Amino acid sequence: MEGKKKVENVLDWYFTGKAEDKGERINSCDLCNTAIRYVYYIKNKFTGEILGVGSDCIERFNVTMMKDGVRSSRLETLKEVNKYKYRFKKENANQYVFNTIDKLSWPNIGSYKKDYSDNGYFTPEQSYALFNYLDKQGTVYDKKKFKIYVDTKKNMNKFTYRKFKVIEDALTDNQKKECKKFLFND
Ligand SMILES: [Zn+2]
Repeated sequence: MEGKKKVENVLDWYFTGKAEDKGERINSCDLCNTAIRYVYYIKNKFTGEILGVGSDCIERFNVTMMKDGVRSSRLETLKEVNKYKYRFKKENANQYVFNTIDKLSWPNIGSYKKDYSDNGYFTPEQSYALFNYLDKQGTVYDKKKFKIYVDTKKNMNKFTYRKFKVIEDALTDNQKKECKKFLFND
């Protein structure tokens, strides 16, 4: 393979602890040439050369991190990689929600986004407000991709059956049960 970078001795390299989501598969893995979206950076401890590798390669090769000149364990390294995987997954899920509610062009949409980022969910009232307008606008979107936190004791005071019908598709089976129980008092 012309121009292909090679890792001769994996022990010369360490995971820098840095990774990036490129948004699309626009990079290629410096080890296997596969098109990649998530890039993990490894560094040669002698030459300082940095390569970008994909999620598979960072897991497949025995690359570890260095902390204060000491090589971390493989387990510790994989924990760090998994943290990134989890974060990327969460950010992607948030991105869908943000792209969808951006279609509302409300001036206060930023505060909805902030709440969602901070808490990881919308309240039933927040999701009702958003869904109600998105539906009225005729926006096509997937309610199941929104996370809603239902606490019938705390955040459903003035919730009604009509509102419930609007957010119903975003709820889990347990949440639906809980809401119905609360709304119908049975
Ligand atoms: Zn690769």
